[in-house]
Parts: sequence; C-alpha cells; structure tokens
Amino acid sequence: MLPHCPKCSLQLLVAVDGTRASTGAAALRCPACSGFWVPPEVVAVVSSVALLGELDVQPPHAPDADMRTGQCPDGHGLLRRARVTWHEPYFLERCARCGGVWFDAGEWSRAANDELLANLSEVWSPAWRKQLSDEQAHAALQGDLRAKLGAEIFLSLNDLANRLETHPQRAVALAYLSERLKHPGELGEE
Ligand SMILES: [Zn+2]
Ligand SMILES: [Zn+2]
Repeated sequence: MLPHCPKCSLQLLVAVDGTRASTGAAALRCPACSGFWVPPEVVAVVSSVALLGELDVQPPHAPDADMRTGQCPDGHGLLRRARVTWHEPYFLERCARCGGVWFDAGEWSRAANDELLANLSEVWSPAWRKQLSDEQAHAALQGDLRAKLGAEIFLSLNDLANRLETHPQRAVALAYLSERLKHPGELGEE
C-alpha cells in the first residue's frame, strides 16, 4: 500500500533522501502540504534532525491542517493528537501502533528548537498534559492579578516575590506584609 498524506488524503508521500535508518524506514514528505511523516527510529537518527530542519517549510501562520488529525500512512487507523504547548499552541499526531509521528510544515523545526525530539513520545503522556494545564492555570492567575492590581503594582509585586522567594527570612516579610495590609496605617514606616 502506498503511503498517503494524513492531511491531504489523496496525496502520496515521498521518501526523504538521506533519512533512511538501519531498519530501512525513512522520513516521508508530502509534496502538497510539506508535512513530514517520521517513524520513531528515524527521529533517533541524528543526521535526519538537521536534514529535515533544512527541508522544513516555515508557514507564516499555523496551517489549518494542524487543527485536525489524520490516518497513519502505514494503515494503522486514526492518529492521536497531542497539544505540545499551551502558548502559541501546536499539535503533533502520533500512531499508537507504529509510533510514527506527523509534523505539519514548520513543526519539525519547532519540536527541534524545543528539544523535544529526544523524548518525543512524552508529549502524549498524562504528565505532559498535567504540566500544560499547570502552566495554563499559572498564566491565568497572573493575568487575573494583573487585571485586578494594574500593571505597575503587579510588576512590583512579582519583582518583590521573586526576590523574597529564596530569602531565608521570607516568612518575616510575609508576616509583615500581612499585618500591614490587615491594619492599614497602623504599622507605617516611621
Ligand atoms: Zn499533505
Ligand atoms: Zn502506524
């Protein structure tokens, strides 16, 4: 069976020269959308990292195709999507059976820059999803504080928190701040 692009279903994929692993598997490229299909043993081939990086096309914005999944080119059914980042998000798709991963145009370079290629399968782990949701919750909290306090106070507060975070007497600072704000005007500086 000839491998079809998961995103452009009628388009056949072509092997990328110089990416063949010892098992005979090679990275495949879609001539229409410029995405890559990369079997797990090829992700591990160091030379393919640089080679695919050079061939990778950088679209001006995320391709529409990133919003949907597709079928494994090796006929194993629907690929599993995973959100890689919560900020400027992008998604990768992986086949649960053969471990091959689909990269839409530009995503190989992003994953390489984010140093994800060495442990790529982690992106589909529950721990990864947990970390993303923690980051998202943290950012939401920061956004909420900034909106309520105003940018200037928010920045000073953050700066102060950063400086106190590692201070051995941070408990004293917290107690002072707490007392001071519970009883405004009573403990003011002399
Ligand atoms: Zn395609
Ligand atoms: Zn597969």
